[in-house]
Amino acid sequence: MLFDVHAHLEFNEMYKTPIDDIMKQCKKNKMGKVVSAGIDLASNRFSLELSQKYPNLVLCGLGLHPETVAQDLSEAKKCYQFIKENIKNAKAISEIGLDGKYPSMSRQKEYFIDLIKQGIKNRLPLIIHTRKAEKEVIEIIEEHIKGKHPIILHCFSGKKSLIQRGIDNGWYFSIPPNVVRSQHFQMLVQLCPLRQLLTETDSPFLAPFSGEVNYPWNVSYSIKKIAEIKGLDEKEAENIIQMNFQAIF
Ligand SMILES: [Zn+2]
Repeated sequence: MLFDVHAHLEFNEMYKTPIDDIMKQCKKNKMGKVVSAGIDLASNRFSLELSQKYPNLVLCGLGLHPETVAQDLSEAKKCYQFIKENIKNAKAISEIGLDGKYPSMSRQKEYFIDLIKQGIKNRLPLIIHTRKAEKEVIEIIEEHIKGKHPIILHCFSGKKSLIQRGIDNGWYFSIPPNVVRSQHFQMLVQLCPLRQLLTETDSPFLAPFSGEVNYPWNVSYSIKKIAEIKGLDEKEAENIIQMNFQAIF
C-alpha cells in the first residue's frame, strides 16, 4: 500500500478533478493513507472535514505555515486558535517551521516553538517545512524535543551535513515524486537509512514531471526511485515505507 505524508488537497482550482473523485482514485491506486497538510485556517478546516468524511483514507494534519505567520498576523492568530480548539481530532501537526524567504523571523520562531510544544503535549508527529533556514530549524527542534518524538522533515533542501544531523537525531525524511529529476533528493535517499524514509507528494506541487499537477498516488514514483537507489525491488521498498509510516501514525 502507498502512503503520502504530505498533501495539500484543498487546492481545488489546481486539480482538474473534484476532491471526491481524487479520493476514489486514491482507493483505486491502493493508497493506504494520505496526511492532509493544513497550512492556514481554510486548509485546516478542509483537512478536518475531509478526514471526517474519509476516515479510512485521510489523516487530519493541522498546521500553520511560516509564510502565513510572516504575511498575515491576524490570519495566523485565527489559525492558531483553530488548531488549539481542534487538536484532539488531529493526527499530525502538519507544516510548521521557518521560511527564510519571508520576513518576521522572530515571529515565525515564536509560532514554530509554540506549535512544537502543542505537538509534544498531544503526542502528534511534527511535519516540518524549512527553506533557507534549515540550520535554525534543526537547532530549534533539538532544543525543544527531548527523547523520542516523530519528526518528519518534508522536502528537506538542506546540505549534506544537516541531512546527516537529522539522520543522527532519528528523524524521518519524506521524499516527493520529483526525486526522479532531482539530484538533491536522490542524494538524500542515498544518505538516509531506509527505516527513516517516508514518501510524500506535496500535491498539487512537486509532480514527477515538470509542469504537471501532482496527486497522492504519485508516491509510487518516489518508491520506484528509492528502490532503485537502495538496490531493492519495489515491493520491498513499499513494505518498508509502509512499516515506517505505521510506526508513526
Ligand atoms: Zn507543503
